[in-house]
Amino acid sequence: MPNTTASPPEERIEVHEPERLKPLLDPIVERLIHNFPQTLLELVSQNGSPLNLVWPHAFHINATALQSVLNQYGVRHAIFYGAKANKSQSLLGAAATAGIGIDVSSVHELDAALRAGTAPERLCATGPAKTTVFHQALVRHGSLICVDSLEEFDHLKAVVDSRSTAAKARVLLRYRPQSCPASRFGMGANDLLQCLQYLTEHTDAFHFEGFHFHLGGYGFESRAQAFRELSGFVDAAREMGLTPSMIDIGGGLPMRYVAPQAYAGFLENNNKPSDYYNHSVPDSFYPYGSSLTACQWLALFLEADHSPGLSIADYLKAQNITLALEPGRSLVDQAAISLFRVTRTKQLANNKTVIFVEGSSFSACETWFASEYLVDPILISAQVSDHIPMQAYIAGHSCLDDDVITYRLINFNTCPQAGDLLIYANTAGYQMDLLENEFHRHPLPRRLMATCCTEGNYAFSPDY
Ligand SMILES: *Cc1c(COP(=O)(O)O)cnc(C)c1O
Repeated sequence: MPNTTASPPEERIEVHEPERLKPLLDPIVERLIHNFPQTLLELVSQNGSPLNLVWPHAFHINATALQSVLNQYGVRHAIFYGAKANKSQSLLGAAATAGIGIDVSSVHELDAALRAGTAPERLCATGPAKTTVFHQALVRHGSLICVDSLEEFDHLKAVVDSRSTAAKARVLLRYRPQSCPASRFGMGANDLLQCLQYLTEHTDAFHFEGFHFHLGGYGFESRAQAFRELSGFVDAAREMGLTPSMIDIGGGLPMRYVAPQAYAGFLENNNKPSDYYNHSVPDSFYPYGSSLTACQWLALFLEADHSPGLSIADYLKAQNITLALEPGRSLVDQAAISLFRVTRTKQLANNKTVIFVEGSSFSACETWFASEYLVDPILISAQVSDHIPMQAYIAGHSCLDDDVITYRLINFNTCPQAGDLLIYANTAGYQMDLLENEFHRHPLPRRLMATCCTEGNYAFSPDY
């Protein structure tokens, strides 16, 4: 006999939004979490914990938004998705569908990008340590190669010289901006000029297309400065008879995980040693509550002065130069959530609580970079429980002392119980799978591609 007095499962399940560092959510993702928590519990029981849900529609929105800014300023452009941000094949597929290129830095990323349907001419290869096999594949496919050093130039030349066809290597030269003289990436002025000289001597082997740089940090000003520095080399190349047609400013466009006011409030009021279980405040964080969106950043870059009275956008148009970008993280904004099932909570000394989850800090990995993911998880309670507020930090299932997902004490309005889910939003950019491994012989977390067409009509399929 069915028990007719029991409430249906969706009514016993509760979704608890955090208050302090509440994640910004894409509406389609938000609707799944709020209206269909039972589905999330079922997906985890079928696929294990942690489970990553990947959302290609979010990638598409991000790519289209950047393209529309570039179109609005009327500049010729090429966007290459920085593929190292995430291992999902469906996100490479989203890049292909959006008509953008992909920045690959291994022969494996190259193969995956081709499998996703990206035309080889739309691939660009970065990284300082490309192997011969990688160079050979790039030359064979006619992809763009960012040459990092004179030494790489020599190696690439040997590959081109040994080719059996007349294919040339298409190259950009990577510049090392003055703001980072000690960086191991790119070339300073002398080496860059030397490379340009070689290029004039080997026009049979190389097709020179322009310059590239990629900087750490997230400011548009440092990119504008490096861009201004590079324009002198554009002139030099032209005087030598070469025809540069592209300046590639790399990635580092910011993305926003939480509202800027909430983030500023957290840093001001709740980022003290007593807010962390280990009483240690990390020295630096990603700017989770960035004051600029990626599109605003790009507009400011294009409007920045190139020279008095001439913006960077004006310069690009006047010189007929294509602006290339290689956003990684900002293109995968909202493109994944990570679900961790709670194993148990445990009382510790000093009235503190730890929540153990099925999964490890390799699947939400900011603590491994001596920092913290400053976005609170959403709690899904599988059963109604008393609303007694509590604070806890969150640890993974390893016996390694460092396996901590967040040392930060998170506020909950109800105590998480075994079987509940903690949802980390916006984990696609370097969080969910950068460090994942089979430690303790736990299988690698599964990744599902999630799509939604009409209200409630969500579909999930394996993402290889
Ligand atoms: C990592 C990387 C990117 C992407 O950087 P994001 O900060 O994710 O936008 C782009 N270009 C190069 C050369 C990189 O190494």
